[in-house]
Amino acid sequence: MKLKIYNTLSKEKELFVPLNKNSIKMYVCGPTVYNFAHIGNARPAVIFDTLYRVLKSIYPKVTYVRNITDVDDKINEAAKKLNQPISAITNKYTDIYHKDMKSLCVLSPSHEPRVTDNIDKIISMIKKIIDNKNAYIKDDHVLFDVTSFDAYGKLSNRDREEMLAGARVEVADYKKNPGDFVLWKPSNENEPGWESPWGYGRPGWHIECSSMVETYLGDEIDIHGGGQDLIFPHHENEIAQSCSAHNSNRYAKYWVHNGYLNMEGEKMSKSIGNIVTVNELLEKYDGEVIRLALLSTHYRKPINFGESLLEQSKNILNKLYKNTENEVHGDKISEDVINPLLDDLNTPLAISNLLKIKCSKTLSKSAGLLGLLNKTSEEWFASNNKSKISKNDIELLIQERDEARKSKDFVKADEIRDQLDQNNVVLEDVDGKTIWRVKK
Ligand SMILES: [Zn+2]
Repeated sequence: MKLKIYNTLSKEKELFVPLNKNSIKMYVCGPTVYNFAHIGNARPAVIFDTLYRVLKSIYPKVTYVRNITDVDDKINEAAKKLNQPISAITNKYTDIYHKDMKSLCVLSPSHEPRVTDNIDKIISMIKKIIDNKNAYIKDDHVLFDVTSFDAYGKLSNRDREEMLAGARVEVADYKKNPGDFVLWKPSNENEPGWESPWGYGRPGWHIECSSMVETYLGDEIDIHGGGQDLIFPHHENEIAQSCSAHNSNRYAKYWVHNGYLNMEGEKMSKSIGNIVTVNELLEKYDGEVIRLALLSTHYRKPINFGESLLEQSKNILNKLYKNTENEVHGDKISEDVINPLLDDLNTPLAISNLLKIKCSKTLSKSAGLLGLLNKTSEEWFASNNKSKISKNDIELLIQERDEARKSKDFVKADEIRDQLDQNNVVLEDVDGKTIWRVKK
């Protein structure tokens, strides 16, 4: 089985040749935990979870690291605004993120390091970059000197002038070049900070990821993932930092980026007020519906998210769950599902091919590669669509009805049957036993 994946570095779909086929290493930039994750944040989590599942089906060992950014100016602002300690904010939203991801059937990564647990590692990496003359100290800041790194701009394919014109680069008099970026900055006494050779302060955002990769995966990795919006400056800066610290020109072999997410045809933004959180969506839709919706567009293309896509995804899941009630003819993953996934993660084709599978076991196994069909069809139809009562409640009502019938209270027994019927649960009395099913 050969995986092909589009590499942002070469701008081509390439054959995936791992550094070591016995141990695959993948890193994806994780969330900054100061607010509810919105649906745009969920896209990379679901895409790279699917890639992780595909890699695990091919290779014996895959180490997947996704960090938690718990040091950030946005977190400091949120804490100030709510008058809460920073750790209360970061712990709360880390927990919510974990719950959201679980609902979307996103597997836990192998490691999920927090920045605050790795400050010493970050400091020692910054030291290496300074020693190698790629960074300088000015006014209690440590800054990366972009002119010291020849390959700067190679990933985003821009020259320095373009980079400065295209990005909002902070102008500051402590910078030698406008494009230089912060590795370490001073903290005042109300801000989170740690003692360092450059005074009391905190790391910049870009160095966090370089340091996590170094600590949990090593100097060089197979795949680095994230959203397209991170290519510049974040990923460009990561390459500059890691290669400078390691005196190397190799960091991540394959750079994989997912496209943007639009909400009902518009870019999600605070000013339009159309930001939708995963949490809100989960109140209305099953996590698998949201997951399938996110996988229904190829990961590199922009996705148009919204009600109609979610309804369409729910209908597809209804059909798939119905098919899990079919007979068993085999138990292997279908080639019509794995092959599109191996071809640059073509999830839309894999999903449409899932609908053609007749054997229930083949279907469940194949859907597992996409993280779908994790429930039984009873559970699915009981908790989705027409029935709003849980399996547990249905069984309790059946018990109550049996007791009513035993004591010849047929009025009550009929009332319970009607109540279940209104919830689209049909009872059938077979050989003295009551079985139930959800109307489809
Ligand atoms: Zn990152």
